[in-house]
Amino acid sequence: MKNKTLKFYNTLTRKVEPFEPLDPECVKVYCCGPTVYDYQHIGNMRTYIFEDVLVRTLRLAGYKVRHVMNITDVGHLVSDADEGEDKMLVAMKREKKKSYEIAEYYTAVFFEDCKKLHIQKPDVVCKATDHINDMIELIKRIEKKGLTYISGGNVYFDVSKLKDYGKLARLDLEKLKAGARIEVDHNKRHPADFVLWFTKSKFENQELQWDSPWGRGYPGWHIECSAMSMKYLGDQFDIHCGGIDHIPVHHTNEIAQSEGATGKPWVKYWMHGEFLVLNKEKMSKSAGGFLTLKSLEEKGIDPLAYRYFCFSAHYRAQLNFSWEALNNAARSLERLKNAVIALKNDPDHSAEVTLSDTALSYREQFEEALCNDLNMPQAVSVIHSSISDSNLSPAEKWQLLLYFDRVAGFDFNSWQSESLDIPQELQDLLNQREAARREKDWELADTLRDKIAEAGYIIEDSPEGARLKRK
Ligand code: AMP
Ligand code: ZN
Repeated sequence: MKNKTLKFYNTLTRKVEPFEPLDPECVKVYCCGPTVYDYQHIGNMRTYIFEDVLVRTLRLAGYKVRHVMNITDVGHLVSDADEGEDKMLVAMKREKKKSYEIAEYYTAVFFEDCKKLHIQKPDVVCKATDHINDMIELIKRIEKKGLTYISGGNVYFDVSKLKDYGKLARLDLEKLKAGARIEVDHNKRHPADFVLWFTKSKFENQELQWDSPWGRGYPGWHIECSAMSMKYLGDQFDIHCGGIDHIPVHHTNEIAQSEGATGKPWVKYWMHGEFLVLNKEKMSKSAGGFLTLKSLEEKGIDPLAYRYFCFSAHYRAQLNFSWEALNNAARSLERLKNAVIALKNDPDHSAEVTLSDTALSYREQFEEALCNDLNMPQAVSVIHSSISDSNLSPAEKWQLLLYFDRVAGFDFNSWQSESLDIPQELQDLLNQREAARREKDWELADTLRDKIAEAGYIIEDSPEGARLKRK
């Protein structure tokens, strides 16, 4: 994979571009993390699975990666555009708990879900409330550049001072002004201006307040991602990710703050995951039909079936959720599992092997799929084709699977037969029968099948391989 060029769709340029890191020694990636005021739904988890595939692919390509993710535990108001209460305050009222208790609980559940989905933990996980000083310092830098104003007690970013404000979402500021709703914050000079620091808190005596040069208060949501990403990755870095809902407001405002402060281009590649959709609507708390990983598990769905389901669509395409589609994914994963277990039961699978041209071509196809803007549906079909190809030896299949797993992340190594306790001599007979079939010695294959049948087992053949079942 090392001599291949990865190509990613960059939201900033609206083009698929060859990936060239700023520093070839280490790729720097920032992903917006969860707002920990409630459970993450499976739509959120789709975005984290996409980001996991991205980071794993970069590592497969031989890069060292520094992956940073924030935890939003203050500052994210009910609307992304500074309206309504802080989401953490909503949760404090709902659950009658302190904000840190709420944040701790939902952060722990989030990482448990990530673990079940085999999403690797980022190298740095940073909480907003631990970085208030970094945010204050960044606001001071932006202020020094003359890009802020104070109104109604809050510090605002003045979007009219930046010549390319809104370039990520290709916003038209004039149109935004004309189309603004009347209830928009009257302290703002322009409806797209946004809060860096709230000093006149709308919510008296709440615990989420800190001292600052502008008075006691709390930060806006966007400033946390600018401050923490630059603290851990530097003033310029390679990739910034999130869901597509972040393009027009959150990421647009992060760019304004960071580039406003440094005067330099900030992030080179912006990558956004499309939504998980339920009944034609984005899955969200407000739209109802809010499903968590736990609710899938309660219906007997293996979390990895959800990971597999996410691979059924390209990350830039919407993915329609239905129980039927999820169950289909669970069945496909089960078939894959049976094939992998059958392969692992063959003692030849772990033999040393030099890959044949056929095997190398599967590896090539898998890499091509990833290089082509992380085409996971294609990559998964390569996994299925290789495991059911009778021209490959068990050892070649196993080598390939271990390689594919570095991105697919199913942990094939840990898969084993749960319920079937098959005597070793029968497993040996099955392996001999498989070898006979590969050699096209049908007579021997049939004799071995009959022996297995006499012992009370039947062979289940599938395109992915054979396994034994009690009669
Ligand atoms: P939040 O906790 O609201 O900040 O969201 C966490 C992540 O999930 C963000 O990157 C969002 O863009 C993303 N997200 C929100 N809703 C969906 C959805 N229905 N499908 C996929 N990703 C989503
Ligand atoms: Zn963010």
